[in-house]
Amino acid sequence: MPEQTLTIALSKGRIYKDTLPLLAEAGIEPKDDPETSRKLILDTNRDDVKLVVIRATDVPTYVQYGAADVGVSGKDVLMEHGGEGLYEPLDLNIARCRLMVAGRPEAAARAGRLRVATKFVNTTRRYYAEQGKQVEIIKLYGSMELAPLVGLSDCIVDLVDTGNTLKANGLVPLEHIADISSRLVVNKASMKMKSARVKRLLKDLEAAVARRA
Ligand code: AMP
Repeated sequence: MPEQTLTIALSKGRIYKDTLPLLAEAGIEPKDDPETSRKLILDTNRDDVKLVVIRATDVPTYVQYGAADVGVSGKDVLMEHGGEGLYEPLDLNIARCRLMVAGRPEAAARAGRLRVATKFVNTTRRYYAEQGKQVEIIKLYGSMELAPLVGLSDCIVDLVDTGNTLKANGLVPLEHIADISSRLVVNKASMKMKSARVKRLLKDLEAAVARRA
């Protein structure tokens, strides 16, 4: 890629769908649709802007190492990653939800060491450590809501939007850990080396977000 190419990392699904209109307002439109194309690097209407479409949990890593100059990442993913090597200059206010502890109603009153199933292992460890609570964390990769139903854990730490998934499985929200939305992240070196381009993109996205508020 030419040196002055600006590479933007995005994940498929909700983040891609919600970021696209914001990018369009910043004058950037992809030439391919990642839902149908097998290409991992997408050209855009601008020769000097490319999109890479990767797993959500890989976005901070690509940006941290400068494989992408900027990225769009959920705050849940950033909290789990730790945010090293990244600036997080803009809340895009999309893909909003809450990170919560949830479980069966009786889990709130349970004494003793809790077993907590989650894919957010680092965030969960930090959350309970801040409260001085010792918990056993069980790492899962999906369907966290199942764990309390089959006795794998007392509760879960997961993203909650409408609460319908919890309800459908007889679980209730117990504790609020953080409000989540997608953030624009920028590689620290790119912020210096490609300062004008990154700042322009930031300003355009900031304006697009403000128009929606
Ligand atoms: P809901 O039933 O609307 O509360 O949605 C809960 C399910 O959707 C859980 O399995 C979550 O992991 C997932 N979810 C909700 N909001 C988001 C989000 N903003 N990003 C990714 N996953 C989400």
